[in-house]
Amino acid sequence: MAIWTAEILKEMRRSLLDWYQRAGRTLPWRNEPDIYRVWISEIMLQQTQVKTVIPYYERWLEQFPTVKTLAAADLQTVLKQWEGLGYYARARNLHQAAQQVVTDFGGQFPEDLESILRLKGIGRTTAGGILSSARNLPLAILDGNVKRVLARLIALEVPPAKALDVLWDISETLLDPKNPRDFNQALMDLGATLCTVKQPDCPHCPWRNHCQAYLNHQPTAFPRKAPKKQIPTKKLVAAIAFNLENQVFIQQRPQDGLLGGLWEFPNREGEIKSLLIQLFPDAQYERSLNTVFHAYTHFKIELEPRIYRVNLSGSGWVSLQSLKDYPFSKAHLKIIEQLQDPQLSLPL
Ligand code: SF4
Repeated sequence: MAIWTAEILKEMRRSLLDWYQRAGRTLPWRNEPDIYRVWISEIMLQQTQVKTVIPYYERWLEQFPTVKTLAAADLQTVLKQWEGLGYYARARNLHQAAQQVVTDFGGQFPEDLESILRLKGIGRTTAGGILSSARNLPLAILDGNVKRVLARLIALEVPPAKALDVLWDISETLLDPKNPRDFNQALMDLGATLCTVKQPDCPHCPWRNHCQAYLNHQPTAFPRKAPKKQIPTKKLVAAIAFNLENQVFIQQRPQDGLLGGLWEFPNREGEIKSLLIQLFPDAQYERSLNTVFHAYTHFKIELEPRIYRVNLSGSGWVSLQSLKDYPFSKAHLKIIEQLQDPQLSLPL
C-alpha cells in the first residue's frame, strides 16, 4: 500500500521506536521468551486493560506455570482463576487450546503461524502478537488500540470494522521488518497511552507530522463510529434458596455459550414461578436483596435476588462459606457479597 514513501516509512518507524525507548511501558510479559506466557498475556489483554490484567497474569502463572499444567487442570479451577476478568470464552478456549498443544504438539507450544492459528481462540492479531513478541517474527497486529491509531493516522472515513483489509494493509506496511517485536509493542503503547479514545496527546505523539486526523485538527472525530444500537435491558429474578441446614442452592451453566461453565443461582427473565415449581415446589418467599445491575456487550441486566426457604437437600446445596470455591459471574458475585454481609444476618 503506497501511502508513504520509503523515506517517510523509515522516519515513522524510527520516530516510533525512539519514543518507545523513552516512554514505553514496563510490563511483566515484555521481552518474555516463554511463548506460553506471552500467549496468556495476549489472551488476557483482549478486551481488558493492562492494570486489570497484571494481577490475574501473575496469579495464573503461579497456578498454571506451563501449558501442561493448564491442560491437566479441570475447567472449574481454570474458570475460578479467571473469575472477574469477564469474557469467559477466553478461559475456556485457553484450556482447550492447552489440551490441543498436549495432544497435537507433544506439549510444546507451536512456533509457526499455521499451527498457532489452529489453536482454539487464536486469530490473526493474537498470533501476530505472540510470534512478534516472543520470537521477533515480522507479523502485523490489529487489536482495538491499533485500529484506533491507524484509523486516525489515515483519517479513515468509515468505521474500522468496515475497512479491516485496509487497516491490516497499513499495519503490515508500517511494521518494521528489522524490529517487529519492539515496533508492535510500541504501536500498542502508543494506542494505550497517547492515542487514547477521548484525549489523544497529539503534541507528544511521534507520528503527529504524519497523522491526517491531527493535521486536520480533529483527532477524536476518528475512528468513525457505527450507528449506535440500543442495548436492551433484561429484568431477571434469581432464586436464592436456603434449605433447613442453611445451605444455598447453586447450579452450573452449560459449557457452551455466555458464561459457560460458571456457577449461578437459578434465575429467569420475567416471572420466576415456573422455575420455583420446577426446582423448589415448597418455596417460601422471605425477602429480596438489592437489585444487581450489570452490563454485557450486547445487553444489560437487572437481577433481583429473592431469598426463599425450602425443605430440600442433596446435590447443588452448599454452605455459604464454600461459595468461594466455585467460579461465578460478576453479577452473581455481587449477590454473594450481599449474602456475606454480616448486617444481613444470614443464614436466616
Ligand atoms: S497525532 Fe494524535 S491522533 Fe494522531 S496518532 Fe498521534 S496521538 Fe493519535
